[in-house]
Amino acid sequence: MASELPSTLGALRASVSAGRVPRRSVRDEIRENLIARLRNGQTMFPGIIGYDETVVPQIVNAVLSRHNFILLGLRGQAKSRILRAMTDLLDPSIPVVPGCEIHDDPLAPLCSACRARIASEGDGLPVAWLPRDARFVEKLATPDVTIADMIGDLDPIKAARASLQLSDELTMHYGLLPRAHRGIFAINELPDLAGKIQVGLFNILQEGDVQIKGYPVRLRLDVLLVFSANPEDYTARGKIITPLKDRIGSEIRTHYPATRHHAMAITAQEAWLDRGKGADVDIPDFVREVVEEVAFQARQDSKIDKRSGVSQRLPISLLENVVSNAERRALLGDEPVVVPRITDIYAALPAITGKFELEYEGELRGADNVARDVIRNAVSNVFGGYFGSADLRQVTEWFDLGGTLQIDDTLDARSLLARAAEVQGLKDLIRYAGVRPNAEPPMQAAAVDFVLEGLYAQKKITRSDEFQYQATEQPRRPARPAATESIEDFQMPGQKKKYYN
Ligand SMILES: [Zn+2]
Repeated sequence: MASELPSTLGALRASVSAGRVPRRSVRDEIRENLIARLRNGQTMFPGIIGYDETVVPQIVNAVLSRHNFILLGLRGQAKSRILRAMTDLLDPSIPVVPGCEIHDDPLAPLCSACRARIASEGDGLPVAWLPRDARFVEKLATPDVTIADMIGDLDPIKAARASLQLSDELTMHYGLLPRAHRGIFAINELPDLAGKIQVGLFNILQEGDVQIKGYPVRLRLDVLLVFSANPEDYTARGKIITPLKDRIGSEIRTHYPATRHHAMAITAQEAWLDRGKGADVDIPDFVREVVEEVAFQARQDSKIDKRSGVSQRLPISLLENVVSNAERRALLGDEPVVVPRITDIYAALPAITGKFELEYEGELRGADNVARDVIRNAVSNVFGGYFGSADLRQVTEWFDLGGTLQIDDTLDARSLLARAAEVQGLKDLIRYAGVRPNAEPPMQAAAVDFVLEGLYAQKKITRSDEFQYQATEQPRRPARPAATESIEDFQMPGQKKKYYN
Protein backbone atom coordinates (compact mmCIF):
# COMPACT_ATOMS: atom_id res chain seq x y z
CA MET A 1 0.00 0.00 0.00
CA ALA A 2 2.69 2.46 1.06
CA SER A 3 4.50 2.03 -2.25
CA GLU A 4 1.34 3.04 -4.11
CA LEU A 5 1.14 6.37 -2.32
CA PRO A 6 2.24 9.29 -4.52
CA SER A 7 5.75 10.39 -3.72
CA THR A 8 5.94 13.67 -5.63
CA LEU A 9 3.80 16.77 -5.69
CA GLY A 10 2.82 16.13 -9.32
CA ALA A 11 1.71 12.56 -8.61
CA LEU A 12 -0.16 13.72 -5.50
CA ARG A 13 -2.00 16.38 -7.48
CA ALA A 14 -3.07 13.74 -10.01
CA SER A 15 -4.20 11.32 -7.26
CA VAL A 16 -6.21 14.01 -5.52
CA SER A 17 -7.99 15.10 -8.67
CA ALA A 18 -8.73 11.46 -9.52
CA GLY A 19 -10.24 11.04 -6.04
CA ARG A 20 -7.73 8.39 -4.98
CA VAL A 21 -6.35 10.56 -2.18
CA PRO A 22 -8.93 12.46 -0.12
CA ARG A 23 -8.31 16.09 0.68
CA ARG A 24 -10.38 17.53 3.49
CA SER A 25 -10.16 19.25 6.85
CA VAL A 26 -9.23 17.27 9.96
CA ARG A 27 -12.77 17.45 11.27
CA ASP A 28 -14.23 16.17 8.02
CA GLU A 29 -11.65 13.41 7.94
CA ILE A 30 -12.54 12.28 11.48
CA ARG A 31 -16.24 12.62 10.77
CA GLU A 32 -16.06 10.52 7.62
CA ASN A 33 -13.96 7.82 9.26
CA LEU A 34 -16.37 7.71 12.17
CA ILE A 35 -19.34 7.37 9.81
CA ALA A 36 -17.59 4.43 8.16
CA ARG A 37 -17.11 2.80 11.57
CA LEU A 38 -20.74 3.32 12.51
CA ARG A 39 -21.84 1.77 9.21
CA ASN A 40 -19.61 -1.26 9.78
CA GLY A 41 -20.77 -1.66 13.36
CA GLN A 42 -17.19 -1.36 14.63
CA THR A 43 -16.37 -0.66 18.27
CA MET A 44 -15.83 3.06 18.58
CA PHE A 45 -13.27 3.10 21.40
CA PRO A 46 -11.80 -0.34 22.06
CA GLY A 47 -10.74 -0.70 25.70
CA ILE A 48 -13.05 2.05 26.99
CA ILE A 49 -15.45 0.19 29.29
CA GLY A 50 -18.76 1.33 30.73
CA TYR A 51 -19.32 4.38 28.53
CA ASP A 52 -21.25 2.72 25.71
CA GLU A 53 -24.58 4.28 26.63
CA THR A 54 -23.41 7.54 28.14
CA VAL A 55 -20.15 9.12 27.02
CA VAL A 56 -19.56 7.40 23.69
CA PRO A 57 -22.83 8.49 22.00
CA GLN A 58 -22.11 12.10 23.02
CA ILE A 59 -18.60 11.97 21.57
CA VAL A 60 -20.01 10.50 18.37
CA ASN A 61 -22.48 13.38 18.17
CA ALA A 62 -19.71 15.92 18.78
CA VAL A 63 -17.62 14.42 15.98
CA LEU A 64 -20.59 14.28 13.62
CA SER A 65 -21.20 17.96 14.44
CA ARG A 66 -17.50 18.75 13.74
CA HIS A 67 -17.20 20.24 17.20
CA ASN A 68 -14.20 21.00 19.33
CA PHE A 69 -15.18 19.33 22.56
CA ILE A 70 -14.30 19.07 26.23
CA LEU A 71 -14.55 16.10 28.57
CA LEU A 72 -15.58 17.14 32.06
CA GLY A 73 -14.87 14.66 34.79
CA LEU A 74 -13.04 13.81 37.97
CA ARG A 75 -9.64 12.21 37.96
CA GLY A 76 -9.24 8.69 36.72
CA GLN A 77 -12.26 8.65 34.43
CA ALA A 78 -10.28 7.79 31.28
CA LYS A 79 -10.50 11.32 29.87
CA SER A 80 -6.95 11.47 28.49
CA ARG A 81 -7.32 7.98 27.19
CA ILE A 82 -10.43 8.86 25.20
CA LEU A 83 -8.75 11.96 23.79
CA ARG A 84 -5.79 9.85 22.66
CA ALA A 85 -8.15 7.29 21.14
CA MET A 86 -9.46 10.00 18.81
CA THR A 87 -6.25 9.39 16.83
CA ASP A 88 -7.75 6.10 15.60
CA LEU A 89 -10.31 8.11 13.66
CA LEU A 90 -7.63 9.76 11.53
CA ASP A 91 -6.55 8.42 8.15
CA PRO A 92 -3.65 5.98 8.34
CA SER A 93 -1.38 8.63 6.81
CA ILE A 94 -1.55 12.00 5.07
CA PRO A 95 0.76 13.68 2.54
CA VAL A 96 3.08 16.34 3.95
CA VAL A 97 6.00 18.45 2.81
CA PRO A 98 8.99 16.49 4.13
CA GLY A 99 10.82 18.19 6.98
CA CYS A 100 8.17 20.83 7.62
CA GLU A 101 7.67 21.35 11.37
CA ILE A 102 3.98 22.04 10.95
CA HIS A 103 3.30 19.18 8.54
CA ASP A 104 2.29 21.44 5.69
CA ASP A 105 -0.09 20.21 3.04
CA PRO A 106 1.98 20.06 -0.17
CA LEU A 107 -1.05 21.44 -2.03
CA ALA A 108 -1.59 24.39 0.35
CA PRO A 109 1.48 25.10 2.50
CA LEU A 110 1.24 27.69 5.26
CA CYS A 111 4.89 28.34 5.94
CA SER A 112 7.07 30.44 3.69
CA ALA A 113 9.82 27.81 3.62
CA CYS A 114 7.47 25.28 2.04
CA ARG A 115 6.07 27.86 -0.37
CA ALA A 116 9.61 28.69 -1.44
CA ARG A 117 10.43 25.01 -1.97
CA ILE A 118 7.37 24.47 -4.13
CA ALA A 119 8.18 27.54 -6.16
CA SER A 120 11.65 26.18 -6.91
CA GLU A 121 10.99 22.41 -7.15
CA GLY A 122 7.50 22.44 -8.67
CA ASP A 123 5.79 19.10 -9.29
CA GLY A 124 9.04 17.29 -8.56
CA LEU A 125 8.84 18.22 -4.87
CA PRO A 126 9.02 15.01 -2.85
CA VAL A 127 5.98 14.19 -0.71
CA ALA A 128 6.23 12.36 2.62
CA TRP A 129 3.42 10.44 4.36
CA LEU A 130 2.80 11.21 7.99
CA PRO A 131 1.29 8.37 10.10
CA ARG A 132 -1.69 9.19 12.29
CA ASP A 133 0.14 8.63 15.58
CA ALA A 134 2.34 11.61 14.72
CA ARG A 135 -0.73 13.83 14.38
CA PHE A 136 -1.69 13.93 18.03
CA VAL A 137 -0.22 16.62 20.28
CA GLU A 138 -1.01 16.65 23.98
CA LYS A 139 -0.33 19.22 26.65
CA LEU A 140 -1.08 19.25 30.36
CA ALA A 141 -2.09 22.82 31.13
CA THR A 142 -0.27 24.50 34.01
CA PRO A 143 -0.32 28.15 35.03
CA ASP A 144 3.25 28.66 33.78
CA VAL A 145 2.55 27.66 30.16
CA THR A 146 3.46 30.60 27.93
CA ILE A 147 2.37 31.85 24.51
CA ALA A 148 5.79 30.73 23.31
CA ASP A 149 5.12 27.16 24.49
CA MET A 150 1.64 27.05 23.10
CA ILE A 151 1.73 29.08 19.91
CA GLY A 152 5.27 30.12 19.24
CA ASP A 153 7.87 32.80 19.53
CA LEU A 154 9.46 35.37 17.27
CA ASP A 155 12.87 36.86 17.17
CA PRO A 156 11.83 40.52 17.35
CA ILE A 157 15.13 41.84 15.99
CA LYS A 158 14.89 39.65 12.91
CA ALA A 159 11.24 40.56 12.52
CA ALA A 160 12.04 44.27 12.68
CA ARG A 161 14.98 43.90 10.30
CA ALA A 162 12.78 42.16 7.76
CA SER A 163 10.31 45.03 8.25
CA LEU A 164 7.43 42.82 7.43
CA GLN A 165 3.82 43.79 7.53
CA LEU A 166 2.61 40.45 8.76
CA SER A 167 5.61 38.94 10.47
CA ASP A 168 7.10 36.31 8.29
CA GLU A 169 7.01 32.77 9.65
CA LEU A 170 10.67 32.46 8.72
CA THR A 171 11.47 34.02 12.05
CA MET A 172 9.01 31.95 14.05
CA HIS A 173 9.74 29.13 16.46
CA TYR A 174 6.59 27.07 16.43
CA GLY A 175 4.84 26.14 19.65
CA LEU A 176 2.69 23.07 20.28
CA LEU A 177 -0.47 24.23 18.57
CA PRO A 178 1.09 24.88 15.14
CA ARG A 179 2.86 21.53 15.45
CA ALA A 180 -0.60 19.97 15.76
CA HIS A 181 -1.57 21.50 12.39
CA ARG A 182 -3.62 18.95 10.42
CA GLY A 183 -4.08 16.85 13.54
CA ILE A 184 -5.57 16.77 17.02
CA PHE A 185 -4.46 19.04 19.83
CA ALA A 186 -5.46 17.90 23.32
CA ILE A 187 -5.16 20.18 26.33
CA ASN A 188 -5.68 18.48 29.65
CA GLU A 189 -6.92 20.51 32.65
CA LEU A 190 -7.81 23.51 30.51
CA PRO A 191 -8.79 25.79 33.45
CA ASP A 192 -5.16 25.78 34.61
CA LEU A 193 -4.19 27.67 31.46
CA ALA A 194 -3.61 31.40 32.06
CA GLY A 195 -6.27 33.72 30.63
CA LYS A 196 -3.77 35.29 28.25
CA ILE A 197 -3.02 31.91 26.67
CA GLN A 198 -6.72 31.15 26.38
CA VAL A 199 -7.12 34.41 24.47
CA GLY A 200 -4.28 33.39 22.16
CA LEU A 201 -5.92 30.02 21.54
CA PHE A 202 -9.22 31.67 20.83
CA ASN A 203 -7.69 34.13 18.37
CA ILE A 204 -6.03 31.34 16.44
CA LEU A 205 -9.30 29.42 16.35
CA GLN A 206 -11.41 32.37 15.41
CA GLU A 207 -9.28 34.49 13.14
CA GLY A 208 -6.19 32.47 12.34
CA ASP A 209 -4.26 35.49 13.58
CA VAL A 210 -2.36 35.97 16.77
CA GLN A 211 -0.09 38.64 18.17
CA ILE A 212 3.28 37.57 19.39
CA LYS A 213 5.39 40.21 21.09
CA GLY A 214 3.24 42.83 19.42
CA TYR A 215 3.71 41.43 15.89
CA PRO A 216 0.67 40.01 14.18
CA VAL A 217 1.24 36.47 12.95
CA ARG A 218 -1.09 34.70 10.58
CA LEU A 219 -1.54 30.98 11.07
CA ARG A 220 -4.60 29.47 9.43
CA LEU A 221 -4.34 26.16 11.23
CA ASP A 222 -6.50 23.12 10.63
CA VAL A 223 -6.78 21.45 14.06
CA LEU A 224 -9.35 19.55 16.05
CA LEU A 225 -9.12 20.87 19.59
CA VAL A 226 -10.12 18.59 22.41
CA PHE A 227 -9.90 19.37 26.11
CA SER A 228 -10.40 17.88 29.53
CA ALA A 229 -11.19 19.53 32.84
CA ASN A 230 -12.43 18.94 36.34
CA PRO A 231 -16.10 20.02 36.20
CA GLU A 232 -15.87 22.32 39.23
CA ASP A 233 -12.79 24.10 37.92
CA TYR A 234 -14.40 24.49 34.53
CA THR A 235 -17.64 25.99 35.75
CA ALA A 236 -15.98 28.20 38.36
CA ARG A 237 -16.42 31.84 37.45
CA GLY A 238 -13.60 33.42 35.53
CA LYS A 239 -11.61 30.23 34.96
CA ILE A 240 -12.33 29.98 31.24
CA ILE A 241 -12.68 33.08 29.06
CA THR A 242 -16.19 33.19 27.65
CA PRO A 243 -15.28 33.44 23.94
CA LEU A 244 -13.17 30.29 24.23
CA LYS A 245 -15.99 28.48 26.03
CA ASP A 246 -18.28 29.52 23.19
CA ARG A 247 -15.98 27.89 20.67
CA ILE A 248 -16.11 24.54 22.44
CA GLY A 249 -19.08 22.94 20.74
CA SER A 250 -19.81 20.08 23.13
CA GLU A 251 -19.31 19.57 26.84
CA ILE A 252 -19.34 15.90 27.69
CA ARG A 253 -19.49 14.56 31.23
CA THR A 254 -17.53 11.45 32.11
CA HIS A 255 -18.23 9.32 35.18
CA TYR A 256 -16.87 6.51 37.30
CA PRO A 257 -17.96 2.96 36.47
CA ALA A 258 -21.65 2.60 37.24
CA THR A 259 -21.39 -1.03 38.27
CA ARG A 260 -18.87 -3.18 40.09
CA HIS A 261 -18.90 -5.43 37.05
CA HIS A 262 -17.70 -2.64 34.73
CA ALA A 263 -15.15 -1.53 37.28
CA MET A 264 -13.72 -5.06 37.60
CA ALA A 265 -13.40 -5.29 33.82
CA ILE A 266 -11.45 -2.01 33.70
CA THR A 267 -9.14 -3.05 36.52
CA ALA A 268 -8.56 -6.48 34.98
CA GLN A 269 -7.61 -4.77 31.74
CA GLU A 270 -5.30 -2.15 33.25
CA ALA A 271 -3.63 -3.80 36.24
CA TRP A 272 -0.30 -5.60 35.94
CA LEU A 273 -1.18 -9.02 37.26
CA ASP A 274 0.62 -11.53 35.10
CA ARG A 275 3.91 -11.77 36.97
CA GLY A 276 5.66 -13.98 34.44
CA LYS A 277 7.26 -17.37 34.82
CA GLY A 278 7.32 -18.99 38.23
CA ALA A 279 4.42 -16.92 39.53
CA ASP A 280 1.08 -18.48 38.72
CA VAL A 281 -1.40 -15.84 39.91
CA ASP A 282 -4.95 -16.96 40.73
CA ILE A 283 -7.08 -14.11 42.09
CA PRO A 284 -10.34 -15.15 43.79
CA ASP A 285 -13.37 -13.24 42.52
CA PHE A 286 -14.21 -12.09 46.02
CA VAL A 287 -10.80 -10.38 46.29
CA ARG A 288 -11.36 -8.60 42.97
CA GLU A 289 -14.80 -7.53 44.15
CA VAL A 290 -13.57 -6.15 47.46
CA VAL A 291 -10.75 -4.27 45.71
CA GLU A 292 -13.34 -2.63 43.47
CA GLU A 293 -15.74 -2.02 46.30
CA VAL A 294 -12.97 -0.11 48.11
CA ALA A 295 -13.15 2.54 45.37
CA PHE A 296 -16.97 2.61 45.46
CA GLN A 297 -16.96 3.00 49.24
CA ALA A 298 -14.26 5.67 49.11
CA ARG A 299 -16.29 7.68 46.58
CA GLN A 300 -19.23 7.85 48.96
CA ASP A 301 -17.27 8.31 52.20
CA SER A 302 -17.96 11.64 53.86
CA LYS A 303 -14.37 11.80 55.12
CA ILE A 304 -13.05 11.83 51.54
CA ASP A 305 -13.20 14.88 49.28
CA LYS A 306 -15.78 14.31 46.56
CA ARG A 307 -14.70 17.28 44.45
CA SER A 308 -11.36 15.72 43.59
CA GLY A 309 -12.83 12.24 43.31
CA VAL A 310 -11.35 8.79 43.70
CA SER A 311 -9.59 7.67 40.57
CA GLN A 312 -10.13 4.32 38.91
CA ARG A 313 -6.36 4.09 39.32
CA LEU A 314 -7.03 3.31 42.99
CA PRO A 315 -8.40 -0.21 42.43
CA ILE A 316 -5.83 -0.75 39.66
CA SER A 317 -2.84 0.08 41.90
CA LEU A 318 -4.50 -1.64 44.82
CA LEU A 319 -4.98 -4.95 43.02
CA GLU A 320 -1.35 -4.81 41.83
CA ASN A 321 -0.18 -4.28 45.37
CA VAL A 322 -2.49 -6.99 46.72
CA VAL A 323 -1.05 -9.46 44.23
CA SER A 324 2.45 -8.38 45.24
CA ASN A 325 1.76 -9.04 48.92
CA ALA A 326 0.50 -12.50 47.97
CA GLU A 327 3.51 -12.98 45.72
CA ARG A 328 5.82 -12.11 48.61
CA ARG A 329 4.04 -14.64 50.87
CA ALA A 330 4.25 -17.32 48.17
CA LEU A 331 7.99 -16.67 47.77
CA LEU A 332 8.63 -16.85 51.52
CA GLY A 333 6.48 -19.96 51.93
CA ASP A 334 7.67 -21.55 48.69
CA GLU A 335 4.11 -21.93 47.42
CA PRO A 336 3.47 -22.74 43.77
CA VAL A 337 0.44 -20.45 43.30
CA VAL A 338 -0.01 -16.82 44.21
CA VAL A 339 -3.51 -16.47 45.69
CA PRO A 340 -4.33 -13.05 47.17
CA ARG A 341 -6.41 -12.83 50.35
CA ILE A 342 -8.58 -10.13 51.89
CA THR A 343 -5.88 -9.43 54.49
CA ASP A 344 -3.54 -8.57 51.60
CA ILE A 345 -5.81 -5.59 50.94
CA TYR A 346 -5.02 -4.21 54.39
CA ALA A 347 -1.33 -4.73 53.63
CA ALA A 348 -1.76 -2.62 50.48
CA LEU A 349 -2.61 0.69 52.19
CA PRO A 350 0.27 2.42 50.34
CA ALA A 351 -1.70 1.92 47.12
CA ILE A 352 -4.78 3.59 48.62
CA THR A 353 -3.86 6.53 50.81
CA GLY A 354 -2.34 8.64 48.03
CA LYS A 355 -5.39 8.24 45.81
CA PHE A 356 -7.79 10.47 47.69
CA GLU A 357 -7.88 13.88 49.37
CA LEU A 358 -9.29 13.99 52.88
CA GLU A 359 -11.96 16.27 54.27
CA TYR A 360 -11.23 17.87 57.64
CA GLU A 361 -12.94 15.03 59.49
CA GLY A 362 -10.81 12.55 57.56
CA GLU A 363 -7.62 14.44 58.39
CA LEU A 364 -8.46 14.14 62.06
CA ARG A 365 -8.92 10.41 61.69
CA GLY A 366 -5.76 9.99 59.59
CA ALA A 367 -5.36 8.59 56.08
CA ASP A 368 -4.45 5.07 57.19
CA ASN A 369 -7.46 4.79 59.49
CA VAL A 370 -9.78 6.19 56.83
CA ALA A 371 -8.42 3.62 54.37
CA ARG A 372 -8.89 0.79 56.88
CA ASP A 373 -12.48 1.87 57.53
CA VAL A 374 -13.14 1.96 53.81
CA ILE A 375 -11.70 -1.53 53.33
CA ARG A 376 -13.75 -2.86 56.21
CA ASN A 377 -16.96 -1.43 54.76
CA ALA A 378 -16.07 -2.88 51.38
CA VAL A 379 -15.45 -6.33 52.87
CA SER A 380 -18.71 -6.17 54.80
CA ASN A 381 -20.62 -5.29 51.67
CA VAL A 382 -19.11 -8.01 49.47
CA PHE A 383 -19.25 -10.60 52.27
CA GLY A 384 -22.97 -9.92 52.64
CA GLY A 385 -23.44 -10.76 48.98
CA TYR A 386 -21.61 -14.09 49.26
CA PHE A 387 -22.68 -15.22 52.73
CA GLY A 388 -26.22 -13.82 52.96
CA SER A 389 -27.72 -17.28 53.24
CA ALA A 390 -24.92 -18.92 55.22
CA ASP A 391 -25.34 -19.96 58.83
CA LEU A 392 -22.39 -18.38 60.59
CA ARG A 393 -23.44 -19.14 64.15
CA GLN A 394 -21.29 -22.20 64.66
CA VAL A 395 -18.16 -20.17 63.94
CA THR A 396 -19.13 -17.10 65.94
CA GLU A 397 -20.10 -19.33 68.85
CA TRP A 398 -16.67 -20.94 68.82
CA PHE A 399 -15.19 -17.48 69.33
CA ASP A 400 -17.88 -16.55 71.84
CA LEU A 401 -16.84 -19.55 73.90
CA GLY A 402 -13.38 -18.06 74.20
CA GLY A 403 -11.60 -19.35 71.12
CA THR A 404 -8.93 -17.18 69.52
CA LEU A 405 -7.17 -17.56 66.20
CA GLN A 406 -3.90 -15.93 65.26
CA ILE A 407 -3.29 -15.49 61.53
CA ASP A 408 -1.36 -12.92 59.59
CA ASP A 409 -0.79 -12.04 55.97
CA THR A 410 2.59 -13.80 55.82
CA LEU A 411 1.27 -17.14 57.11
CA ASP A 412 1.52 -19.85 54.47
CA ALA A 413 -1.62 -21.64 53.33
CA ARG A 414 -1.02 -25.00 55.04
CA SER A 415 -0.30 -23.43 58.43
CA LEU A 416 -3.35 -21.20 58.07
CA LEU A 417 -5.58 -24.15 57.25
CA ALA A 418 -4.16 -26.18 60.15
CA ARG A 419 -4.96 -23.39 62.60
CA ALA A 420 -8.38 -22.80 61.05
CA ALA A 421 -9.23 -26.52 61.39
CA GLU A 422 -9.61 -25.94 65.13
CA VAL A 423 -12.59 -23.69 64.50
CA GLN A 424 -15.63 -25.90 64.12
CA GLY A 425 -17.62 -25.27 60.96
CA LEU A 426 -15.18 -22.73 59.54
CA LYS A 427 -13.91 -24.79 56.63
CA ASP A 428 -17.44 -25.83 55.67
CA LEU A 429 -18.22 -22.20 54.90
CA ILE A 430 -15.66 -21.76 52.12
CA ARG A 431 -18.11 -23.09 49.55
CA TYR A 432 -20.09 -19.86 49.97
CA ALA A 433 -16.99 -18.05 48.71
CA GLY A 434 -17.16 -20.20 45.59
CA VAL A 435 -14.20 -22.36 46.64
CA ARG A 436 -14.37 -26.16 46.44
CA PRO A 437 -13.30 -28.22 49.49
CA ASN A 438 -10.60 -29.88 47.36
CA ALA A 439 -9.21 -26.64 45.93
CA GLU A 440 -5.49 -25.89 46.19
CA PRO A 441 -4.51 -25.00 49.77
CA PRO A 442 -3.71 -21.33 48.93
CA MET A 443 -7.21 -20.91 47.47
CA GLN A 444 -8.82 -22.59 50.51
CA ALA A 445 -6.72 -20.38 52.78
CA ALA A 446 -7.92 -17.29 50.92
CA ALA A 447 -11.54 -18.38 51.40
CA VAL A 448 -11.03 -19.02 55.14
CA ASP A 449 -9.42 -15.59 55.42
CA PHE A 450 -12.48 -14.12 53.65
CA VAL A 451 -14.83 -15.74 56.16
CA LEU A 452 -12.83 -14.40 59.12
CA GLU A 453 -12.47 -10.94 57.62
CA GLY A 454 -16.15 -10.89 56.68
CA LEU A 455 -17.18 -11.76 60.24
CA TYR A 456 -14.83 -9.08 61.51
CA ALA A 457 -16.14 -6.51 59.01
CA GLN A 458 -19.71 -7.27 60.07
CA LYS A 459 -18.67 -6.99 63.72
CA LYS A 460 -19.66 -10.57 64.50
CA ILE A 461 -16.14 -11.20 65.79
CA THR A 462 -13.28 -8.82 66.43
CA ARG A 463 -9.59 -8.85 65.75
CA SER A 464 -6.49 -7.00 66.80
CA ASP A 465 -4.29 -5.11 64.35
CA GLU A 466 -2.03 -8.17 64.54
CA PHE A 467 -4.82 -10.34 63.11
CA GLN A 468 -5.79 -12.19 66.25
CA TYR A 469 -9.47 -13.02 65.88
CA GLN A 470 -11.67 -13.33 68.95
CA ALA A 471 -15.20 -12.77 70.20
CA THR A 472 -16.60 -9.25 70.16
CA GLU A 473 -17.59 -9.56 73.80
CA GLN A 474 -15.96 -11.21 76.75
CA PRO A 475 -16.65 -14.95 76.72
CA ARG A 476 -20.02 -15.78 78.23
CA ARG A 477 -20.11 -17.74 81.38
CA PRO A 478 -21.47 -21.18 80.53
CA ALA A 479 -24.52 -20.90 82.75
CA ARG A 480 -25.56 -17.88 84.67
CA PRO A 481 -26.74 -18.73 88.16
CA ALA A 482 -29.62 -16.30 88.33
CA ALA A 483 -30.05 -16.22 92.07
CA THR A 484 -26.47 -15.52 93.02
CA GLU A 485 -25.88 -12.62 90.68
CA SER A 486 -27.37 -9.34 91.71
CA ILE A 487 -29.17 -7.63 88.86
CA GLU A 488 -27.89 -4.27 90.06
CA ASP A 489 -24.35 -5.30 89.18
CA PHE A 490 -25.13 -6.44 85.66
CA GLN A 491 -23.04 -4.45 83.21
CA MET A 492 -24.20 -3.81 79.66
CA PRO A 493 -21.44 -4.40 77.13
CA GLY A 494 -19.81 -1.20 76.00
CA GLN A 495 -21.73 0.93 78.48
CA LYS A 496 -21.26 2.31 81.90
CA LYS A 497 -22.57 0.30 84.75
CA LYS A 498 -26.35 0.34 84.64
CA TYR A 499 -28.71 -0.25 87.49
CA TYR A 500 -32.15 -1.64 87.02
CA ASN A 501 -34.67 -1.12 89.73
ZN1 LIG B 1 5.92 24.19 5.88
